[in-house]
Amino acid sequence: MEKITVVGSGYVGLVSGTCFSEIGNRVICCDVDPFKIAMLRKGEIPIYEPGLKELVKKNVDADRLFFTSEIGDAIEASDIIYIAVGTPMGDNGEADMRYVHEVARTIGKHLNSYKIIVNKSTVPVGTGEQVRQIIMENRKNRFVQFDVVSNPEFLREGSAIEDCMNMERAVIGATSDKAAKRIADLHAPFRTRIFQTNLESAEMIKYAANAFLATKISFINGIANVCERVGADVTSVAAGMGLDSRIGAKFLQAGIGYGGSCFPKDTFALSYIAEEAGFDFSLLKSVIAANDEQRLVVVDKLKQALGCLEGKKIGVLGLAFKPNTDDMRYAPSLTIIPELVRLGAYVRAYDPIAMQAARNQIAEYYEDFETLEEALEGCDACLILTEWSEIVEMDLARVKQLLTAPIIVDGRNCFSVREMKEREFVYYSVGRPAVT
Ligand code: NAD
Repeated sequence: MEKITVVGSGYVGLVSGTCFSEIGNRVICCDVDPFKIAMLRKGEIPIYEPGLKELVKKNVDADRLFFTSEIGDAIEASDIIYIAVGTPMGDNGEADMRYVHEVARTIGKHLNSYKIIVNKSTVPVGTGEQVRQIIMENRKNRFVQFDVVSNPEFLREGSAIEDCMNMERAVIGATSDKAAKRIADLHAPFRTRIFQTNLESAEMIKYAANAFLATKISFINGIANVCERVGADVTSVAAGMGLDSRIGAKFLQAGIGYGGSCFPKDTFALSYIAEEAGFDFSLLKSVIAANDEQRLVVVDKLKQALGCLEGKKIGVLGLAFKPNTDDMRYAPSLTIIPELVRLGAYVRAYDPIAMQAARNQIAEYYEDFETLEEALEGCDACLILTEWSEIVEMDLARVKQLLTAPIIVDGRNCFSVREMKEREFVYYSVGRPAVT
């Protein structure tokens, strides 16, 4: 049993802290946001993540999981300190490191005994060393020792608990073998593969992995755009490609591109890191540019289906960047909806979970509705932006009745082209033949 403090109780800190408590450790999750901590203490979960509420309750009840805003006290009471604060996109695309640095200062001030400082946030190469320096500058007793470890997080929002409890690998980067072994031992109950390397490589692995996945998405979207023009079907093409074990079937779903809190900022950050290091990562820049352009393919398809968008009512289904999350960070809907409005359309929107989070960002552009049916009522076309199961399983006969014309533009390829033809919809998807 380890005594762990996790600093930052967002999507990553809260989930990983809870999972560390689930495998028997004593975990304190802390945050600078007093409202988050107050909610957590009342058994409420500030984010939407399937299964999290139950797991938090189970471990709080077992006296293994605690929440506090007293970050210094939490640090003093623990032997392993995880840093899981945000590293958002800065002005030039670089990672904004102010929260990590702030935490490092706090750790330094409260370093009362030997501790292992583990960085879980996604951070530029060299951050581990910066954290070490900041702690050394701020520690009151220079005889108290510590080690810094990099242990980047790979969970996916929407299946975060599952990903954490059954993680494919734990990457551990450290200069001290003793510290690396202790973090490896901490992961033993997860029965995962441990990959040990140096600090710098561990920090790079996270960016490289995300950039590679983003590249896969932009690549298949490029293939989709070609498929549409030459009469091929990208779903068959991706399936055929995926049978090659060197390629793999995952991350080959064509659509309106990636969004969320990681890929957009991490691709920018890696491009910036490369630039600073004197390398023009032109491939990665193209991946980013292609993703920006891909968001707007559904707007062009709406124009094809409706002619001009001026005065047209569009029922938008799905606002979150992917299903099973309320995270709106860099969601494609944030670009697409304002563009529809700029072209004169009127947007009626629905999302099963992310409605409030979306309101906080672009409320002025659309009206939202409590149900999918209300949102679609009287619309000239339906536009699908997130493949929530409620949307994939919606009653298409009813949808047809609700719309003024049976037009669906599907940015996530939710339905089979054949079915839409049989049901006599006008149906545009991504990388597949249009039904007109
Ligand atoms: P988040 O914004 O959901 O959570 C960060 C939390 O840190 C917030 O609650 C914030 O209040 C808190 N915080 C900020 N400064 C603090 C401080 N000085 N002391 C204590 N708490 C502080 O962010 P997230 O999505 O959990 O991401 C955290 C890190 O993990 C990022 O670097 C991100 O790139 C990385 N990551 C995220 C995901 C994901 O799917 N969200 C997956 C893998 C890695």
